Amino acid sequence: METKFAYEPWTVTEQGFSAENLRENESVFALANGFIGMRGNLEEGTADGAETIQGSFLNGVFDTEPITYGEKAYGYARNHETICNVMDAKSIILFADGERLDLGLSDVREHRRVLDMRGGTLKRSFCWHTRSGAVIEAETERLVSLTRKNLAAVRLELRCVSGNCSLQIVSPVAPAVIAEGDPNDPRNAAGKDRSLITAAVFAKDALIAMEQKTKNSGFTVCCAVDHRGLTGSSEAGEHGVLWHANSELTEDSVLRFEKSICYTAARYEEDPAMMEKAHTICLSAPDFETLRNEQAAALEKFWNGVGLNIEGDDALLQGMRFNLFHIYQSAGRDGKTNIAAKGLTGEGYEGHTFWDTEAYILPVFLYTDPAVAEKLLEYRYAILPNARERARELGHPKGALYAWRTIDGEECSAYFPAGTAQYHIDGDIAHAVLEYLAATDDQDFLARYGAEILIETARLYADLGFFSEEKGGKFVLNCVTGPDEYNVMVNNNYYTNCVAEETLRGAVKAADFLREHRPEDWERISRTLSLSQEEPDSWSKAADAMYYPPAKDGIYPQDDEFLNRKPWPLDEIPKEKHPLLIHYHGLTIYRHMVCKQADLILAMTHYGERWTEEEKRKNFFFYDSITTHDSSLSMAVFSVLANEIGETSKAYDYFMSSARLDLDDMHHNTKDGLHMANMAGTWTGLVQGFGGMRCRDGQLSFAPRLPEQWEAYSFRVRYRGRLIEVLMDRSGPEYRLLQGEPITIVSFGDIKELS
Ligand code: BGC
Repeated sequence: METKFAYEPWTVTEQGFSAENLRENESVFALANGFIGMRGNLEEGTADGAETIQGSFLNGVFDTEPITYGEKAYGYARNHETICNVMDAKSIILFADGERLDLGLSDVREHRRVLDMRGGTLKRSFCWHTRSGAVIEAETERLVSLTRKNLAAVRLELRCVSGNCSLQIVSPVAPAVIAEGDPNDPRNAAGKDRSLITAAVFAKDALIAMEQKTKNSGFTVCCAVDHRGLTGSSEAGEHGVLWHANSELTEDSVLRFEKSICYTAARYEEDPAMMEKAHTICLSAPDFETLRNEQAAALEKFWNGVGLNIEGDDALLQGMRFNLFHIYQSAGRDGKTNIAAKGLTGEGYEGHTFWDTEAYILPVFLYTDPAVAEKLLEYRYAILPNARERARELGHPKGALYAWRTIDGEECSAYFPAGTAQYHIDGDIAHAVLEYLAATDDQDFLARYGAEILIETARLYADLGFFSEEKGGKFVLNCVTGPDEYNVMVNNNYYTNCVAEETLRGAVKAADFLREHRPEDWERISRTLSLSQEEPDSWSKAADAMYYPPAKDGIYPQDDEFLNRKPWPLDEIPKEKHPLLIHYHGLTIYRHMVCKQADLILAMTHYGERWTEEEKRKNFFFYDSITTHDSSLSMAVFSVLANEIGETSKAYDYFMSSARLDLDDMHHNTKDGLHMANMAGTWTGLVQGFGGMRCRDGQLSFAPRLPEQWEAYSFRVRYRGRLIEVLMDRSGPEYRLLQGEPITIVSFGDIKELS
C-alpha cells in the first residue's frame, strides 16, 4: 500500500507540500481536546490552487434546520442537527514587503509538518524566500490543550537568515468559510447551512474577541484571542476582528510571538457572561511552553494506560497510535457531549453520534481510561428523556428508543430504513452499560444512571417483540434493521435479537441486584419509572424465548429471509461501483444477498459462546465472500473473528487494512474527517483479536497469538482498579500486574494468579 507518510513510531510527518492532499491532511493533522476541534488548516490560509476545508468545531455546538421531505409521513425525524463550523482563530497571515505568504505562489522550500502524538502538538517549519530577497526560516506550533477545556494556542517563530524585509503579521478572528458538501454522498454534510451569525466583536490592544450565535438552536459561542510577545494593535470591523503588528527583520533577527485562544459556548443564554468568561480565561492562560508541558504530561498518562507496542511493524505501530491519539482527542468528557462519527476532525455525518460510540469506541476507553467511558455513558443518560419521547412517538407505550444519529438526543436520521429502524442501538448502549459495570464494578453508576438505561431499553424490546405462534411461541423482533445497512427492515436480525436478549437479562439482573443490595435506590428507581413487580418477569420470559433464525447447511442467516435473497457475486460488481450505496438504488441492494458490514460476524465476536469454532469458521468464510466492507466499521470485526478461528494471516490482512485506513486515505473520504469507529476497531483488533481478551461473567481471559510479521507486541488494560500488561513474543505470553490488588486471569483456559 502506498503511503504518504514515513513510518515513525510517535509522529506523522508531511515532507514538502502537496495541494492535492491538502484536504485529507487537514483531517490527519487535526487537533482537539474533546471540546475544541481544529482541522489542520494552514495558519497563513489556503494555498493558491488548493482546495481546503476550513474547520473549527466545539463539541455539542450545532444548529438545526427542518428536514425537507418530498413525501413526509408520520413520525419522520423533524430536524437536522449539524455541527457548526465556528469562527476561526488559528490563522496568522504574513506579508513580507507586501508579498503575502502563500504555499501555492510563494517560493517556500523545505516545508514540513509534524503531528507529535506524544507531545500533542502540530509543528510546521519552512523556509520562505521572499520576492524582495529575504530568506526567512519559519516555525509554527499549535496545540489544543488536553488539560484546559477552553484553551488552544499557536506559537510563531521567524528567523531572518539572509537579507531584510518589512514584515506584517495579521491575526484575525473571522467567521468560518463554509466548504461545499457533496450532494450525492449521504455521508457528507451537504447543503446544510453551518454558518453562524456574528453578534459582537471586541478589540482592545492585544485582545480581540468575537461572539457568534446559531440561527435556530440557541447557542452563543465566544472566542477570545490574546497576543503575546509582540506589540501590535487591534481593530474590529464588519466582518471580523483582527490584531496586526509590523516588524523590520534584518539578517539574524528573530521574531517570536504567541496567541492564546479561548472558546466558550452556552445554550439558551444559560451563561450570559460568556464573553467576559472567554476574556478572563484567555488573559489568564499560561504561556505556550507551560501548556506544552501540561500537554505532554497528560499524554504520558494516556499512553501509559494504553501501553501499546508492536515490534517488527512500524507502519502498524504508527497507524495504531495515530488512531488512539485521535479518539482520545475527540471524546467529550463532560457527560453532556459524546464522540461524533468523525470526532472533531471534520463535518462528515454532520457531527452525529451513532452506535459507533458504544459498539466500537467505548471499550477502548473502558479498558484504558474508564473515566472517559463513564462520561460517554452519562451522555446517554442525559438524553434518555428524548429517547423516551421518541419511543412514544413510534407507538411504544413504555421504554426508550435512542436516536440512530443525533447530537443532543433528537432523532436526525431522515432515511428511517437505514436509520431509526436500527433498533439494535438500544441494545448496544445497554451492552456498553453492562460491560462498563463488569469492568469497573461501579455500583454507584448502576444506581445513578445504568439501571434506568437498562430498564428503559429492556422495556422497549419487550414491547417491540411478541410471542409468535408462527415461530412456535418464540419471542420475535420484526421489521428492524441490523448493523448491516444493506439489509433493511428485516425480521429477526440475528445480532439485534442477541443484543435484545442481553438487554432484557441485564435489566433483570440489575433489578435483582438493586432490590437486594441497594433497596433505597431500588425504591427510588421503581417509583420514578412506575415499575411493577411483574415487569422484570416479563423481560425474563421474552429473553428465555428469544427467537434466532436457524442455520441452513451450517450457515446462520443474518435474518429470517437472508438466505432467500438474490446472489450478487462480489467479483461481478465493477470496482468503480463501490461503495454500493452511492452507485445503486437501495432497492437493488436490499434484494440481493450482499452485506455492507459485519453483522452476524459481530454477533459471533460479542456472543461467541453461542457457537462452536467450526460454526464460526464456516460462517466467517461465507460472510467474508459476500461482504463489501463499504462501511469502515466492518474490517476490524472480521479481523477479530479470523483470529478466534486461527486464521491469523487473514486476521492480519483485515487488521492492516483497518489500521491505516485514514493515514493512507483508503476510503477516499478522509477529507471529511477521520473514521473514529474504525480507529477504535483497530484497538479491538489487537487486544480482543490478537490478544484474545474477553471479559465474560466477570472473568478476564486472554489467548494471545502472534502473526509471523511481528516479533512481539504488548498492551495494557485497566480492569477493576488494576493495570495489567500483556506481552507476547515468540516464547509465548507473559502477564504482569502493574497496579492494583492481585487478580486471577485465564490464559488459554488456564487460571493464572497475578500479583
Ligand atoms: C455505517 C454505520 C455507522 C455510520 C457512522 C455507516 O456507514 O454503516 O454502521 O454507524 O456509518 O459511522
